[in-house]
Amino acid sequence: MFTALTLTLLAQTGASVELQPGSAHPGEAVLIVVRGSTREPSGSLGGDPLDFFDYHGTYLALASLRVDQVEGSLPLAVRLVTQGREQDVGGQLDVLPPDFRHRTLTVAPRFISPSKAQQRQMKEDQRAFDEAFDQDRVGPMFDDDFEWPRPAEVTAPFGDIRLYNGKKTNQHFGTDIDGSTGDPIFASNEGEVVMQRPCYGSGNTVVLFHGLGLFTAYFHLSRFDVKVGDHVDQGQRLGLVGMTGRVTGPHLHFGAKIHGRWVNAESVLRLHFPPGTAPSETPSLTPGL
Ligand SMILES: [Zn+2]
Repeated sequence: MFTALTLTLLAQTGASVELQPGSAHPGEAVLIVVRGSTREPSGSLGGDPLDFFDYHGTYLALASLRVDQVEGSLPLAVRLVTQGREQDVGGQLDVLPPDFRHRTLTVAPRFISPSKAQQRQMKEDQRAFDEAFDQDRVGPMFDDDFEWPRPAEVTAPFGDIRLYNGKKTNQHFGTDIDGSTGDPIFASNEGEVVMQRPCYGSGNTVVLFHGLGLFTAYFHLSRFDVKVGDHVDQGQRLGLVGMTGRVTGPHLHFGAKIHGRWVNAESVLRLHFPPGTAPSETPSLTPGL
C-alpha cells in the first residue's frame, strides 16, 4: 500500500517534512517534500545526502533504495530553517523485503557471446548513456505526476533476476510493457530528450531528462519520433514499439533513473508531486502605470 508519512514540525510555523512513501521495497523511488522552510534544507536518507530543489518555498528531493537494500529501516534526517532558526526533523523509512522474481529466458546466442565488433558497440553505447546521464543540476521540468508511457499490461516487472540461455545472469532494471510493433509510446512526463540512439542491447533507445536528478528511458523502439535536444510534453509521442536489441519479442522496456541509480519506474508513477512544481511559463506582468 502507498502511504505518505508526514512529520509535522511546528504547528505554528506550518513547516513540515513529508516522506513518500512511508515504506518501500528495494529499488523503489522516494520523494521528500519540505514545506515552510525559509532556506534550502539539507538532509540525508540512510546516510546518503539529499539534494533539495526549491520551487516557490516548497523543496523537493528525490532518492531511492538500492536493489540490495536489506529489510529494516533507514533514518531520514532533514535540517530546515523556520522563524530564523535551524530545526532538525527526523524520521524513518521502513524497508520492506525484496520481492524480485527469478526467470529463465532464451535469446539469440550473439547476445550471450558478443563478437569483438559487438563488444566495441556496447562500449560506445555505454559512453553515450554516460553522456546522456551527465546533465546539469536543475529543478523539476514538469508540472504533473508521471504517467504510464503506454496503456498496457506489465509483462515483466522491475528487478526480475534473469538467467539467459542457462548461462548469463543479470537483473532487469526496467518495467516491460506489452505492445505490438508499431504501437505508440508516449513521454511519461515533460522533459528534454538527452539520448536517441540505436544500441546493441537496448535497441533503439530514447532517454528523457526531467530535472530533479530524474530520467526516464524507453528501449527497443521500431521508430523514433523525437531527437536529442527536443523538449517534449507529457503524453507526446516518442516513437513506436519494436523489438530492436536484446529481446524475446516486441514490447516497451520502460526505465527510470534517479541520481545515477536505476529504480522501479512503477514506484515513480506512484509519487505525488505538489501542484505547481515547475516554474510557470506565463511572462511576469509589467507593473501598470
Ligand atoms: Zn525490459
